[in-house]
Amino acid sequence: MSLFKNLFSKPLSTQLTVTSNNGFHLRPVAQFSSLAKSFSCQITATFKNRTVDTKSVNTLLSLSLERGDTFTLVAKGKKADEALEKLQLLFETLMTDDQEIKQIEKTAYSYESSVLEGEIICGSIAVASTYTYRTQEVQHKSNTDFKEALYASLNELDVLYSTQKENENATIYLAQKELLASLGEKSQTLPELEQHIEEESKKLLGTKLDSKRSDYQDILQRVKKHLGLEIKATFPDKPFILLCNDLLPSDIDHLLQTKVEGVILKETSVNSHTAILLRAAGICSLIADTQSLVEDETIILDTHAGVVVQHPSSDDMKKARVRLEKDHAQKALSATKRFESATTQKGRHIKVFANVADINSAKTAKEEGAEGIGLLRSEFLFKAVKPSLEKQQQAYQEIFDMFDDVTVRTLDVGGDKALSYVQIPAEENPFLGIRGVRLFDTHPELLEEQLHAIFLAAGNKSVKIMFPMVSSVEEFIQTKAFAQSVAEKYQLDISHLHFGIMIEVPSVLFLLESFNDVVDFYSIGTNDLTQYLFAIERTHPLLKADELSPAVFSAIESILNKATKPVSICGELAANKHAIPKLLDLGMGILSVSPKSIAQIKEEIRHV
Ligand code: PEP
Ligand code: MG
Repeated sequence: MSLFKNLFSKPLSTQLTVTSNNGFHLRPVAQFSSLAKSFSCQITATFKNRTVDTKSVNTLLSLSLERGDTFTLVAKGKKADEALEKLQLLFETLMTDDQEIKQIEKTAYSYESSVLEGEIICGSIAVASTYTYRTQEVQHKSNTDFKEALYASLNELDVLYSTQKENENATIYLAQKELLASLGEKSQTLPELEQHIEEESKKLLGTKLDSKRSDYQDILQRVKKHLGLEIKATFPDKPFILLCNDLLPSDIDHLLQTKVEGVILKETSVNSHTAILLRAAGICSLIADTQSLVEDETIILDTHAGVVVQHPSSDDMKKARVRLEKDHAQKALSATKRFESATTQKGRHIKVFANVADINSAKTAKEEGAEGIGLLRSEFLFKAVKPSLEKQQQAYQEIFDMFDDVTVRTLDVGGDKALSYVQIPAEENPFLGIRGVRLFDTHPELLEEQLHAIFLAAGNKSVKIMFPMVSSVEEFIQTKAFAQSVAEKYQLDISHLHFGIMIEVPSVLFLLESFNDVVDFYSIGTNDLTQYLFAIERTHPLLKADELSPAVFSAIESILNKATKPVSICGELAANKHAIPKLLDLGMGILSVSPKSIAQIKEEIRHV
């Protein structure tokens, strides 16, 4: 009621106050701009006599709004009242949800030698020699023009964002994409883009958003790379502690493939994207003034205590090694526990499987102790280009070889998932349109090639093949018959393969008795099931369906009661610690979760 009342009675301007300690920084700004762009009316923000367009991330960011600042939001034109209302709601949510990066508490230290104090990014300990960050420019041959490079960079950021959506850091890529899109729109050439980036970065100098300047450099490097000019950081082939002013967020992936032991940054903040990624990667890291540090000298980087020990005495080295061993022992303990099965207090073994998107995440799943793959989201395997049959077969083969129990889902495109090489005509309601298995009516060749590759890769292995977004028994029967015709066409025996469905459309709940006669297994996709139960789009910026609602548990209970074939759960609910006791109580025996949650989920199960 109040929503409707507000929609029609709100004035066309409103005052918004920044309440997050982090200020109105890049990621919330990107989400705010993204929503503003969905309205055709003009929407501006005014602060200290400066008025900027809210649809452009960098202009909005240039207001440098910090905690306590109040700005005026004005909307003019079509649906201005609705725009204002929704933006206000989103702003309030963003401010409330914006996680404050708490200062990590420093442990006491007792080093003999002089120490440099710093701010902790990620607590750990490292002993190695220092190495100063350096880059080298590599010019590759390229026929790409500026606009193509811009488009390719935007596409790449989009892929990074959509393939890592489950990861809370993925909004970094969304933010960078929005930044690049708004600066790219104004630029016809690389020098123009460089100029805009320089101007925008200058505006952030000395403000609380200073550390976000590395995002500008990062997007510039991405575009340059597509133009053939690659700026590569070079790292030594021995353990080292990296000294640098700031790192680009994209450097972290590269760094993870080196022998890095620690990182000391000079010009960043604990809130920067670089810091967030360093923490996520678990790299021992600190913010400190590195000026007095000399190249290639052995130091102790103790980020539990937040210090750098510059000329460690032998006693200091002893203390550091004891701490290092303690850290290693702790890691080893949790690592070995990850590989133990998860048994409840009453002795029931619950299988913990992984949801993976590609070979790398499958490898991580293995390292994290997954007992199988409960969901291979095959649409993310080949996001950018259409793969050949051989490429697909090779990728599936690699993943099938890693685990005994693998469920591969056929392409699930449509709704919020797009593939550049699959054209779906524009729809009013894509989440209710051509999605998942429905795509194969118009694109049977895609399914044929994918199934052919899966059959070849499976060989004699009893791989499970799962169809997404199935809503009727006939749909399953037809799709399975199609799979059989593909096997016959290529003279392949698939009698040992299992065929099942994702339960994510509510109609399936009422057809379960009939499905029991034809499917081999079920996997509950609570992300979509919740969306369709509540008729709330899962990507909606303002509305959020409650996945812990009794409606969702009733649906799961009803499935478990009626199903005569094995049931697992692969939606996000499976990794929600508040849901686990209830899911196990209802009889769920297989949870499929993201690789990095496996150890923690196993631990939760052990306490039920
Ligand atoms: C789901 O819908 O719960 C699910 C696991 O599939 P996806 O998130 O890939 O749509
Ligand atoms: Mg789904």
